[in-house]
Amino acid sequence: MPSAVPHAEVGEVTALREFLVAPLRLRVWISLAVVLAVALPLILSSGSSPAIRADDLAIAIALVAGSVVNVEVGRLFEGGRVAQQRPHKALSAWPMAATILLPSYYLLPIVALVYAHARWRGVRVTLWKWIASACFLICAGAVAGAAVATGDGGMPPTLSSGLPGLLIVLGAIVAFLLVECAMLALTALLNTPQDDVWLRQTLADPSFYVMEAGVVTLGAMTGLVASGAGWFVLLLIPAYGFLQQSVLHRPLQEQATRDPKTGLLHFTAWQRLAGDQVMRHSAHRRPWAVLFIDIDNFRFYNQRQGHLGGDRALAVVAEIITANVREHDIVARFGGEEFCVLLPGTTPEAATLIAERLRAAVSEGSSVLPEQITVSVGVAAVGSNGPPTDLGEMLALADQALYQAKLDGRDLVRVRRPPSDASAPKDPADPGDRDRRRA
Ligand code: GH3
Ligand code: MG
Ligand code: MG
Repeated sequence: MPSAVPHAEVGEVTALREFLVAPLRLRVWISLAVVLAVALPLILSSGSSPAIRADDLAIAIALVAGSVVNVEVGRLFEGGRVAQQRPHKALSAWPMAATILLPSYYLLPIVALVYAHARWRGVRVTLWKWIASACFLICAGAVAGAAVATGDGGMPPTLSSGLPGLLIVLGAIVAFLLVECAMLALTALLNTPQDDVWLRQTLADPSFYVMEAGVVTLGAMTGLVASGAGWFVLLLIPAYGFLQQSVLHRPLQEQATRDPKTGLLHFTAWQRLAGDQVMRHSAHRRPWAVLFIDIDNFRFYNQRQGHLGGDRALAVVAEIITANVREHDIVARFGGEEFCVLLPGTTPEAATLIAERLRAAVSEGSSVLPEQITVSVGVAAVGSNGPPTDLGEMLALADQALYQAKLDGRDLVRVRRPPSDASAPKDPADPGDRDRRRA
């Protein structure tokens, strides 16, 4: 579950300090990646001494220029809509093209310039993460370059190389992606989950791999066309434009699915994700539950603290809810001062305890605010082997339970179960179904 805390605001802390507060294991790894980025291209340049030839230099400049144009055109498309996001800039295309066109020792200056330009033009990422990402691309390019050099006489394949050439290029693309993704995954693993919410989410999203494979393959095509057919490379420009549109899709989609005040999912996105989980759990007769959480007397809080104070309280409550549920529970802002949570695989008894824990956590955690806040929680829960129940039905039950909590005096948890749930206790006095009052 993503954190409700927005990405760390850079600026107050210096770039060096941000690196120094990272875990030691991560700092060792990033330092090693920098060393690898310098050494690997030289080691894997198949023994050729780094001689700078004028035509190679022209190709390197053209690749950097390609990225500059691509990023600038991308900025026009963005129109500032993703200023706070991290749109993919298709930067991996250029080192991949370089593996086909140039010796590996060109990778470092090309990637350094491409990354420096993209950062200058508004990519907001912690400096050490940006440098690490550049190093990963250099290493990926160096390994892909070694794969490319396995062809006839160490020469890169061309568009007329036939099937063996195609296989070599495919191998190089796969090698590039494997090295890049492995290095990113190791970084996420070594970093703290709090600091790497974005990277973890990205690596868990299948569309990232599709997108990255597209970018790297287009880079390989650029290299092949440029080496064999010169100016025909200009025909690829619309493909880069198309790519820019589609890589922008993800951050815009993220913007569309997340509520800016709390960082939580919007209800519609929640319904989609929760609906998938519910289908799976219902099909296997596994338990699941829905919580409806509503801030008590929020209208009056707003009146006393102003709407900006109210907004801050919303963010704090969202943060407390997120911190008190598991990774795979799904939290959303339903709207206004109401939140909903899907608890997959959770029995009615456990869901009631979680709801009680959330209620108590908000009441205690709101001490950071100028005045205390409480919430009422409605729980709808279905046990294992319970009746097939859909999300809408359970939301309605949770809403009824919430209404009951409000009627009974607020700062309370109330529970409802589908009437036909065979495992539901029939006796309303049964502790499994008994409403819980605050301690
Ligand atoms: P109850 O205990 O019955 O829930 O009382 P309540 O005052 O919380 O309930 P009601 O639903 O009548 O009022 C909800 C209030 O939430 C009214 C509205 O001003 C406030 N609210 C809704 N969305 C926002 C928001 O985005 N920011 C702020 N600051 N307030 C909001
Ligand atoms: Mg309300
Ligand atoms: Mg309310």
